[in-house]
Amino acid sequence: MPAGRSLFDKVWDAHAVRELPDGQTQLFIGLHLIHEVTSPQAFAMLREMKLPVRCPELTFATVDHIIPTDSQRRPFADALAEEMLVHLERNCREHGIRFFDAASGKQGIVHVIGPELGLTQPGMTVACGDSHTSTHGAFGAIAFGIGTSQVRDVLATQCLALNRPRVRRIEVSGKLGGGVYAKDVILHIIRRLGVNGGVGFAYEYAGPVIEAFSMEERLTLCNMSIEGGARVGYVNPDEIAFAHLKGREFAPRGAAWDRALAWWRSMASDPDAHYDERVVLDGREIQPTVTWGINPGQSCGVSEPIPRLADVAADARAQVAEALEFMGLAGGRPLAGTKIDVAFIGSCTNGRISDLREAARVAKTGRVAPGVRTYVVPGSQAVAKQAEAEGLPEIFRAAGFDWREPGCSMCLAMNPDKLVGRELCASSSNRNFKGRQGSPTGRTLLMSPAMVAAAALRGEVVDVREML
Ligand code: SF4
Repeated sequence: MPAGRSLFDKVWDAHAVRELPDGQTQLFIGLHLIHEVTSPQAFAMLREMKLPVRCPELTFATVDHIIPTDSQRRPFADALAEEMLVHLERNCREHGIRFFDAASGKQGIVHVIGPELGLTQPGMTVACGDSHTSTHGAFGAIAFGIGTSQVRDVLATQCLALNRPRVRRIEVSGKLGGGVYAKDVILHIIRRLGVNGGVGFAYEYAGPVIEAFSMEERLTLCNMSIEGGARVGYVNPDEIAFAHLKGREFAPRGAAWDRALAWWRSMASDPDAHYDERVVLDGREIQPTVTWGINPGQSCGVSEPIPRLADVAADARAQVAEALEFMGLAGGRPLAGTKIDVAFIGSCTNGRISDLREAARVAKTGRVAPGVRTYVVPGSQAVAKQAEAEGLPEIFRAAGFDWREPGCSMCLAMNPDKLVGRELCASSSNRNFKGRQGSPTGRTLLMSPAMVAAAALRGEVVDVREML
């Protein structure tokens, strides 16, 4: 039997307060991130119970979902959005919580600003009332999304009662080809293991492809763990992670940095760690990947044919038929050549500077096709500032793209950025559920930011490798 322990086991055990009579673990939460959508009710419950926030110094807030991307000027035109923001401001003020609002210069999508500010660190437990909290696992943190009543629990106690998941190690071997990105890798993993394949598991990502990834690529990868059913997904911290963290606002400094570094190194999985399951995938097989259906597991390589009903296992046929009908796509044909109406580059999956750089590299090669509506939305004010310093907005604008202010935007369409009717959107976000982008009949094709930019220029889905 292997004697070593995985990072997951080490972090979980280090944060376990006690085992509860029902078998759950009371887990201490090292970092609690909140935003305007899932926190107001939690604060209201706290108020009813006359409880203070237990650790305001470990709680940080931002506004992302509802913020308009044409202008962040207050008050917002949408009265409901304005009211949500007013509630968040009041709650943060009353409880002494640091709020990164638009005036701070540090506002952005919660899963973009946490790592950007150095709040997310290896060996931590991180919770947020948002399912894509798995993103923070890129640094070797155990990070998971929670519901509103759990947001209340963390606010009140800085702890959560949780079932301990099993750990599956997913190794991606070999090397990726040109024009293949972290987004393609995670879409491929979800396609292979299924959207429910990770239920009850934490995913540890490893292998030469993952270890060569930059931190931003690891963030993209871990972000979509939840789309494969795993609430937690992480990469072991290494020199790439430490170099990325060093000097960030909330990262330790001086002697504290040296102490932290030694501890972070000790938290990485042991070479002989025990895993409940192991999966190995070949990176050389991964193509630029696009979803054709209504969940992120329904995807294929851009030049591969979409499955035909006749070729699908009997128990999956109804689901595939529903997806093809909703999407208006025919099985047996590749997605390449499918006309699009809208192109969205952004979100907590792919709204970071490296994503914008790759998309701009493609945008430089042409002009947005007539009739295609575009949104390029940086993930945070810091990303926008960096992009401006590099001249990226000019590149996008010159190609006919619409450069916007930071926020979640059309990923969830809780702001004015919405699909209309049956529009088909090439999107760098993470969910292609029916109605996800603001129109009940709107349709989403998930792909990498470079693929979205390529689709915008051609007016149809295209293999980005032809354009790079
Ligand atoms: S970008 Fe999308 S998935 Fe990410 S936090 Fe915002 S709405 Fe959620």
